[in-house]
Amino acid sequence: DPVVAARDLSYAYPDGTAAVENLDVAIGAGERVAILGPNGAGKSTLLLLLGGLLDPDEGTVRFFGEDQPADDVRERIGVLTQDPGEYLFNPTVREDVEYGPSQFDLPKETVDERVSALADRFGLTHLLDRPPFRLSGGEQRRAALASVLSFDPEVLLLDEPLSNVDGANRAELLDLLDDLVDDGVTLVVSTPDADLVPAVADRVILMDREGAIAADGQTREVLTDV
Ligand code: ADP
Ligand code: ADP
Repeated sequence: DPVVAARDLSYAYPDGTAAVENLDVAIGAGERVAILGPNGAGKSTLLLLLGGLLDPDEGTVRFFGEDQPADDVRERIGVLTQDPGEYLFNPTVREDVEYGPSQFDLPKETVDERVSALADRFGLTHLLDRPPFRLSGGEQRRAALASVLSFDPEVLLLDEPLSNVDGANRAELLDLLDDLVDDGVTLVVSTPDADLVPAVADRVILMDREGAIAADGQTREVLTDV
C-alpha cells in the first residue's frame, strides 16, 4: 500500500486561484521523491494536501492504505513548510524542539532523549537555550526541521528545504536526508531547481503551471526530457 495516495485531487484558494487540478499520485513507503516545477506550479499546495494540512475541494487523499481522517495520522507525517518561523514560536529553541513530542503524552525522559539526539544531529546543542529569533536563517531551518522530526514521522514532506542553504550546510542537510531514508523514512522534497533533484530523489514528479502532473518517473528518465 502507498503511504499517501491522492486521487483526482483539486484545490483552489478562496480567491479562486486553481493551484492543483485533477491530480493523481501515490507515494510508496521508503521512496525518495522530488516534486519539481516552476514557482506557482502548485508544489507547496500539493505538499499541504498530501500532508493532510489542507482539505481538497475535490478528490481524496488516503493515508497508509486506509480511509482515515488526516487528524489520525498527524504524528506519522511531518510537513516542513517554506517558512521556518511557523515552527519556532516558543521562548527557546529547546521548547520548539520539545513541542512535538510534548503533544503526544510521551514520558519526559523520552522527550529529553529525543531533543538532545536531534540537537546533536543538527548542530543545535549550543543554541537550545536561545530564543529562535536570535538564530541565523540556516540555524532556524535546522531547528524547524528538528522540531518536525521530533515527532519521529514515517513520512517527511519538505517544501524547498534547500532554498537559501548553501555550501557546507547544503551538503550536511543532504547527508541528513540520506540518513533519514536509511532509517526507512519516506521523503518527498519540492524544488524549482532540476539540478538539485538527483541528490535528493530517485523519482521525480514534474508539475506544470496549471497544477497538473506533466511527468512522473525515474529521475534519470524524467530529467533527460526536461
Ligand atoms: P491501483 O490503481 O493500481 O489499484 P492504487 O495505489 O492507485 O493502485 O490503489 C490501490 C487501492 O487503493 C485501489 O483499490 C484504489 O481504489 C484505492 N485508492 C488509492 N488511492 C485512493 C484514494 N485517494 N481514495 C480512495 N481510494 C484510493
Ligand atoms: P509553488 O509551491 O509551486 O510555488 P504554490 O502551491 O505556492 O506553488 O501556488 C500555486 C498557485 O496558488 C499559485 O498560482 C499561487 O499564486 C497560488 N496561491 C498560493 N497560495 C495562495 C493563497 N494563500 N491564496 C491565493 N492563491 C495562492
